[in-house]
Amino acid sequence: MTELSSSGEAELVVLGSGTSHGVPMIACDCPVCRSDNPKNQRTRCSVLLRKNDFYLLVDTATDFRQQALREKIPRVDAVLYTHSHADHVFGLDDLRRYNYSQPHPIPIYSRPDVLEDLERIFSYIFHPAQAGGGVPRIRLISLPGPMRLGPFHVEPIPVFHGQLEINAYRFGDLAYVTDVSRIPPASLERLAGVRTLILDALRYQPHPTHFNLDQAIAVVELLKPERAYFTHIAHNLDHDAVNAQLPPHIELSYDGLRLAFKPDGNEPRI
Ligand SMILES: [Zn+2]
Ligand SMILES: [Zn+2]
Ligand SMILES: [Zn+2]
Repeated sequence: MTELSSSGEAELVVLGSGTSHGVPMIACDCPVCRSDNPKNQRTRCSVLLRKNDFYLLVDTATDFRQQALREKIPRVDAVLYTHSHADHVFGLDDLRRYNYSQPHPIPIYSRPDVLEDLERIFSYIFHPAQAGGGVPRIRLISLPGPMRLGPFHVEPIPVFHGQLEINAYRFGDLAYVTDVSRIPPASLERLAGVRTLILDALRYQPHPTHFNLDQAIAVVELLKPERAYFTHIAHNLDHDAVNAQLPPHIELSYDGLRLAFKPDGNEPRI
């Protein structure tokens, strides 16, 4: 990881910028899936926030192991989940590795419905069938609303992923809004004033559960962040070709992208 300045800024690392299939996609020989451009190689969608020695994950993507190796993530202090779809949770078991060096179970925060899904999907963690065999030591905690997690002010913001209500998250002057096809007005208000917006933009064509490029651009124009980065990108979008068409303050994100932000908020520490 690169060293940070002492200006009070935190760093976000895009661990994965790809849609649920990943890019390249299995059994596809389209130009993007065959591309040599590393920015067209997208692992499943997740971000890491870091300030000083506190590491906060948003989702544990299917590719979490490779992402953790690539970014040399030394510890995980907490995990926030956006929702329980496979591409966002299937890396959970690899949190086990951090239990060796960290004394306490890793706290996992999300909505109650997501925590219930995790308990069902990973039932072997909560209902071990036999002694022996490693399972992650985690604690499921329902997010009570805006709260402080280490140095980060976390504000969950409900958005719609098709008919499913899931969490976007605001951290000070940055917001992470993935897997979204509709943002209700009250949530748009809570996103107002962000300086950096990371937003779902799947492909050119409309999709029932994700913004396409035009819809994502319209949200950026409404919220007017200083800069916006699109994520959860399918194999239809070539990194350089799409970036050449986007307005200068909007770019496709890519695996390994690092962004500085100010994580401060005003809610009391809990
Ligand atoms: Zn997804
Ligand atoms: Zn392809
Ligand atoms: Zn999803």
